[in-house]
Amino acid sequence: MKATEPLQTIKPEVRNLHPYSLSPDRARIKLNQNENPWGTPPEVKQETLTRLVDRPWSRYPDFIPVQLHQKLAAFAGWTADGIIAGNGSNELIQAVLMVTLGPGKRLLISEPTFALYKQIGTVLGAGVLSQPLTPELTYDAGLLKKSLQDQRPEVVIICSPNNPTGCVIQHADLAELLELTPGLIVVDEAYFEFSGQTAAPLLERYPNLVVLRTFSKAMAMAGLRVGYLLASPELVREISKAVLPYNLNAISQTAAEVALEMYASSLKPLVEKIISERERVFSRLQGISGLLPVRSRANFMVVKSSVEPARVFKELLRRDILIRDVSRYPLLKDYFRLSIGTTAENDQLLNGLEEIFTGRNILENYEHHQKEA
Ligand code: PMP
Repeated sequence: MKATEPLQTIKPEVRNLHPYSLSPDRARIKLNQNENPWGTPPEVKQETLTRLVDRPWSRYPDFIPVQLHQKLAAFAGWTADGIIAGNGSNELIQAVLMVTLGPGKRLLISEPTFALYKQIGTVLGAGVLSQPLTPELTYDAGLLKKSLQDQRPEVVIICSPNNPTGCVIQHADLAELLELTPGLIVVDEAYFEFSGQTAAPLLERYPNLVVLRTFSKAMAMAGLRVGYLLASPELVREISKAVLPYNLNAISQTAAEVALEMYASSLKPLVEKIISERERVFSRLQGISGLLPVRSRANFMVVKSSVEPARVFKELLRRDILIRDVSRYPLLKDYFRLSIGTTAENDQLLNGLEEIFTGRNILENYEHHQKEA
């Protein structure tokens, strides 16, 4: 049998997919994954380690992490039996889609957005309906309403703030959409802490709303893989059927509890710093000729660039700064995305961009030099 023969058993739509991937480049200033640049506060780490020493590692973690669910309930203003904690919010995106989508079912998304929605929908054999954001890269509520009425998708995912554009869905529009559809509306709030807005208060009124959140961004815990889902207890019971038992390990569970307890004192100040840095970076970018930053409510922004994004990426990498080239996303041919870093990191990024865009053709000189060396 030829090595490629078993590939015939893979669904054609899966074989046609480009895998979700990340450039393997490394740099000292890492502004490519929207992480918290300040790191986990030492007091959160210390308290987590202290609790872990006392915890029996030979035993399974709780079947349902009740204590964590209760703390999440208090934090989110929702009921503990309407919560699922997951191994990153990625796992919960997958769980929601597994229990709702399959051949003959449809998922509606607005693009550009987080690539995983389309990937999972496609792997599950569902139809993925994609509509564009407006030319200003904001949600087109009118078009969303029309698509809901005309196409009747089983699931809609709205990422708010949206990765990579940073736009948010307006509350009034979301409420109207929730009224319009008998299907589920999943609001991915991975970045909600930076936006000052959440759909969580709508959960009470709309049993077809699902809210997803993560500890990977504002909570500064991307390495520990924790996310959570908020929905009606009835929906949670069904979605839980697609989550593996003991999905959340004891270490991450403990760290998440500590982060919630210390959020106000240790993490919120970092979130506020990131928000004020976002506004400072935005104003400085506005002053650089050849760059057009797009207003964002997250801890990142996309920037329209008169120089090819791949070149900007390369130029910055040479300065030990890693950003995200998003030019292959729909509508974003001329854009790159940057995450907000520490104050010092942002200064280096801005200085680098100023150099690149002051007209000196540094990259060509560099390539010339490389060839000669
Ligand atoms: N949703 C969005 C919009 C994201 O940008 C990301 C990560 N980049 C995730 C979900 C997944 O986050 P995690 O699995 O780390 O919780």
